Amino acid sequence: MIESWLPVPNGSDFPIENLPFGVFSVDASIRRIGVAIGEKILDCRAVAEAGWFDDCCERELLEAPVLNPFLAAGRAVWQTVRARVSELLRVDGDSHVREAGADNFLIDRTRATMHVPMEIGDYVDFYSSIEHATNLGRLFRPNADALLPNWRWLPVGYHGRSSTIVVDGTPIRRPCGQRKPPDAPAPDFGPSRRLDIELEMGFVTGPGNELGHGIPVQDAREHIFGLLLVNDWSARDIQAWEYQPLGPFLGKSFATTISPWIVTLDALEPFRVEGPRQEPPPLAYLRAGENWGYDVQLSVELQTARMRERGVAPQRISRTSFRDLYWNVAQQLAHATSNGAVARPGDLFASGTISGSDPGTQGSLIELTWNGERPIELTDGEKRAFLEDGDEVTLRGWCEKPHARRIGFGTARGRIVD
Ligand code: MN
Repeated sequence: MIESWLPVPNGSDFPIENLPFGVFSVDASIRRIGVAIGEKILDCRAVAEAGWFDDCCERELLEAPVLNPFLAAGRAVWQTVRARVSELLRVDGDSHVREAGADNFLIDRTRATMHVPMEIGDYVDFYSSIEHATNLGRLFRPNADALLPNWRWLPVGYHGRSSTIVVDGTPIRRPCGQRKPPDAPAPDFGPSRRLDIELEMGFVTGPGNELGHGIPVQDAREHIFGLLLVNDWSARDIQAWEYQPLGPFLGKSFATTISPWIVTLDALEPFRVEGPRQEPPPLAYLRAGENWGYDVQLSVELQTARMRERGVAPQRISRTSFRDLYWNVAQQLAHATSNGAVARPGDLFASGTISGSDPGTQGSLIELTWNGERPIELTDGEKRAFLEDGDEVTLRGWCEKPHARRIGFGTARGRIVD
């Protein structure tokens, strides 16, 4: 293990082994690229202006208000810059920042406002958890096979709405839409009564590809910068009425929350694992040939307005893992571009709801409460089938194993407002 000269609290999401990238501002000033370390943010713009990235890349890449130029530069630059950041923060490393007076380069995270760290041109959401797809199949098509025939052959997905992706902490306005209960003769229009979460992870792309030339699955590592948490808020009533035959639309597009820090594949390397066995074997263009599972542990916490008023701590309502996701991120990227469609720097590809097979390991309320039939009992006596106004949901993700330092993803949090 390496050590930083900066104090990093035990159990922090952001020890020196992590070094995730984000975009922050202080006191409504310009947006800056930063790297989280313990309770601080290393101001990459200030480091670039001081010339300490000059042997890594063009200064402009790290002086930008978004990560896109840096993402476009590719893996060799990502790795060189990350190694330099590590050197600047390491006990026995480069003492430039330390000697210059840390105050000029390190900002308290509590003082910073975090932003969506890249301009997201395109956003895709997959459906890659076999447990989730099976559960929803049972709920929506009780008299048919839970999985549709294509599911084990390709990573099913849809194109989402990048303009409504918001960062951790942004309030979520309850969407309105057409709602039609199964026994009602006609729909009406009004606020969703079945507002749900979807616990997901997403990856952010780097250089991307030319139109007409997909990204081969073997090249995925050159194009995936890192991972973050995603909450794909879902209005189940709007979704159920609108989704056939063309798929998710307004039931999803009102808001998607992401965590502010992108954890790089390099930081996740100690936690890379073999994925689940795939049967039937994938077609050749989806055969990744290396391990693409990541052992990320995930949780969902809920705190209602009443819990908050009474000082009751958020309650964990789900605990699951990313490691067994059926279709991995390399397969998702290869499939999404296999027809020649373009992935650009800063695009977001989300996994789809991540669910396990045991009770309490599902990533959505519709599964946890079995379509609302078995509401969750909260410690203060309240019950929840779907989200009420004032409810706050927090997603967390972290990696830990023996002989490695724990790293985390921070939070993807949102409170429902009307
Ligand atoms: Mn989703």
